[in-house]
Formats: sequence, C-alpha cells, structure tokens
Amino acid sequence: MSDWFEKLRKRVYPILMPSPCTLCGDAEADDALCPICIEDIFNSPSYLAFADLKEVPKLASVMEMDTLDHIYVAFNYQWPISKWISAYKYQQVMHYESVLNTIWQRALTKDFDVGLKSDEQVVITYVASDWLRLWQRGFNQSYIMAQFVADKIGKPLNDLFYRQVGVAHQSGQGAKARRAKHNAYQVRAEQVANIEGKHIYLVDDVITTGQTLNQLAYLLKQQGAITVTAVVYAWANESL
Ligand SMILES: [Zn+2]
Repeated sequence: MSDWFEKLRKRVYPILMPSPCTLCGDAEADDALCPICIEDIFNSPSYLAFADLKEVPKLASVMEMDTLDHIYVAFNYQWPISKWISAYKYQQVMHYESVLNTIWQRALTKDFDVGLKSDEQVVITYVASDWLRLWQRGFNQSYIMAQFVADKIGKPLNDLFYRQVGVAHQSGQGAKARRAKHNAYQVRAEQVANIEGKHIYLVDDVITTGQTLNQLAYLLKQQGAITVTAVVYAWANESL
C-alpha cells in the first residue's frame, strides 16, 4: 500500500468508524475512552494534578530547572499515558489524539488553577517543532495542548520560538549531543514585544531532564520575561 494512502487511511478511518474504549473495549466511548476508564486514570497515582516540580527540592540536582519559576505536570509518563503519547508522536497513531486531548482538557478543567492576578500580562506559548517534523506529523502536539491552556485561562497564545531545521533531536542521544543543541531554538524577532514584562506559560508534552524547557525559559528571560512557568502533560520521572 502506498505511503500516502496509509497516512490517509489512519486519519480517515477513526472518523468513519468510531472506536470502542481504547482501554477496556467498552462500546460506550466518546473520544475513544469510556467514562469509567477516564475516572480510573484520574484516580490513579499517575495523575499529578499539576503538582509543581520546583517544590520538590531533590529534583534540582537531577533536572535543569533553575530558570523556570514553576513546572506544573499533569501526569507521570507511565502506561497508558506513555503509550498514547509515544504512539501519537512517533507512529502517528491519530486514534490517540482525541484520547490525549480529552484527558488534557479534563485535567485543565479540574485542577489547573494558576491563581492569575487580573493585572498580570500573560502569554501562552509552546515548544515548536521544526518544519520537517511538522510536515511529517502534520501537526504539533504541544501547540494543540497550548490552545487548551489558552482557552482555559483566557489569555493569548503566541508562537514565540522557531526551531532550526537539521539540529539534532533529543530522543536517543547522549547528554553531550543534547547539550550541543542548546542553540536549536531561537526567539522570533517579531515576538519580542510579547515577552518583555510578561508572565509566560510554556506548554510541552513531556519533560525528562528539563533541559529544553529550562533553556527556553532562559531565552525568554533574556528578552525580559518576568516569570516562565512550564505546563507539561507528562513527567518522565527517571526514578520510576
Ligand atoms: Zn473503558
């Protein structure tokens, strides 16, 4: 089967054929997950309810977080969340997009309360993919997640960064190669006015070492951001 046809099939099939619950197989599933399984996920220890990793002192020695003011995480990167995110990101299993979005939106509604003051100048942004990855996947999952955050707190979503094409990606590389990609992201020159004097919420799908988010926070503070808060779907806690 040709590649384009396979891609088309993956996108269209779930629309034509509503799927049963992806966890238990129950047919009563909106968005591919039944209400009971949704409850189970939110009652499991994987759900962190936007706990702030900055308040866990011992993490400062194993993660890069010094330029981030808060790191709010919704879930541990554990099954089934880990399976859905990796299938969605790396194998383009579109079936999981609605599952991930449903859970994310519910988590935000339930527990994301950042206590914004009315006079705070807030901007939401996300970790950009480069154009090549956008083309391969057809979307940027962090952008989609950031839209939900922007809707939840009623503040604008701005595309503050661009990513240089051809700079090595983080997965599967050693620490040395990861450090070498420090310059992979740049602030968009036309966005500088949306950074200075602002409180910035930076949305990403997975945090592991904290390096990428911490580096982006550094770039934002160089441009005058007052605070930078990471809002992350899942924490790949390496001690788990
Ligand atoms: Zn179910």
